[in-house]
Amino acid sequence: MSKLKIIINKSYCLTLIASFFIIDINAQLSGDPGEIIAVKAEENLKGSDYAISIEGSLYQLIPLPYSNQGEYIKHEGKSIYINKRDFGESRISIENTSLVDLNKEDSDRAYKESKIIKETLNTYTRNIKPDFNLIKPVEGIISSRYGKKRFINDKPRSPHLSLDIAAPEGTTVVSPAKGNIILVGNFFYSGNYIVIDHGYGLLTSYSHLSKVSIEENQIVEKGQKIGAIGSTGRVTGPHLHWTVYFEKIRINPELIIQENFLKKLLLNQK
Ligand SMILES: [Zn+2]
Repeated sequence: MSKLKIIINKSYCLTLIASFFIIDINAQLSGDPGEIIAVKAEENLKGSDYAISIEGSLYQLIPLPYSNQGEYIKHEGKSIYINKRDFGESRISIENTSLVDLNKEDSDRAYKESKIIKETLNTYTRNIKPDFNLIKPVEGIISSRYGKKRFINDKPRSPHLSLDIAAPEGTTVVSPAKGNIILVGNFFYSGNYIVIDHGYGLLTSYSHLSKVSIEENQIVEKGQKIGAIGSTGRVTGPHLHWTVYFEKIRINPELIIQENFLKKLLLNQK
């Protein structure tokens, strides 16, 4: 009798230890909004998944959306907690109220354009494989960071999920990585605007350019000129509004242009 009791206790203990271990693994999967985290890739990765080799091991990169702060998201069976972060706020005033409260013609135009842009940003191709070693698209002063809550003339707007880099009109803007130009146009909000597809769900966009030096369907190399800083569209001064998308999620551009970005991901490896 006493022997059996010990066996039961042992297996109970093992179950307890095992369940703590599982809870512990899940608890470690967390990150900041706009961050990319690296999770060891499982062997049965589907074809569409992007696994990248970092220091000899395969990892899956998972983007964490801004909009799910303080919540768990599910990513292929994994539960990831997104930390709450205060990114501050920015308040601007635009005197020309026709740019804020749009008339019918402008709002129709902006609506049509937003559909074209949205469609473009859903592009997922595999012709180019990104190295996740992006360079800064322009030298300048950071004038607005990722994540700021925005108010225009004191009215709340959607958060700023891009990086603003201010530089004199005409300053050269380059592609931060190899890519295919998938959209070039002039839009109500964005002015002269470019979208680059770097492959595997990594896309970047460039707003308010004074000049565009490339064409749609053109392949550009890292560091190649794509245009120049300007103040076209709805802006308060010459700057680049730069957005980085990974798997349709806007991520924090300042994180991805860090030197040794992929190696740094391993320091936070979950
Ligand atoms: Zn901006």
